[in-house]
Amino acid sequence: MTTYLWNPPAVQSLPVRGKTDRFPINRLFFVGRNYHAHAVEMGRPVDKSAERPFYFTKAPQTLVESGATIAYPPGTANYHFEMEMVVAIGAPGFRVAAEDAHQLIYGYAAGLDMTRRDLQLVARDKGRPWDLGKDVEQSSVCTEIVPLAQVVIAQGAINLEVNGQTKQSSNVDKLIWNVRELIADLSQFYHLQAGDLIYTGTPEGVGPVLAGDHITGRVEGVAEVALTISAAE
Ligand code: MN
Repeated sequence: MTTYLWNPPAVQSLPVRGKTDRFPINRLFFVGRNYHAHAVEMGRPVDKSAERPFYFTKAPQTLVESGATIAYPPGTANYHFEMEMVVAIGAPGFRVAAEDAHQLIYGYAAGLDMTRRDLQLVARDKGRPWDLGKDVEQSSVCTEIVPLAQVVIAQGAINLEVNGQTKQSSNVDKLIWNVRELIADLSQFYHLQAGDLIYTGTPEGVGPVLAGDHITGRVEGVAEVALTISAAE
């Protein structure tokens, strides 16, 4: 039996709708600029004919369950919400063809890719890694996993409010790279595994939050996410 100097960190996990067993997290993948209107608002339009999707990752330890209250994070004066549909992978796959991609899908969730926008943009413009902007403690917000095995979601409203005021309103049919294409492309670079989550990108309307703000958002047919921001530590 392996023994450790101290108790290892707990496995990160999410509840699963209708089940007692939880969904154990392996990796957290995020797709950059995957809605045209958001790419434009970030000043970096996407030409799908000439580009491929790009990704960043966050540590599983950044995961926080929907409904949480989190402190406004350190090191930023421009903490942004990004509402996203999340694909939950439930079977392994490597170099998967788009027409087979559904075989990897366990289900879906609604998520927030919270972002230190000021630090992300400095890093982007200096050609540095995005970690300080993106790999923020408690920044990967996610609802329960909704089992929708082998279902490919191609459309559905996606929206977000801050203190009840609508900030983001779009449809997942506007994804530049859709669910099949993302799984196929990402699996060219990684051996996808059960427990991987893919945050599929945010539509336009991203913006800042302040201490005291309450975020709500949803993906039609999937789930509703919520997050409350409290004062900085
Ligand atoms: Mn994002």
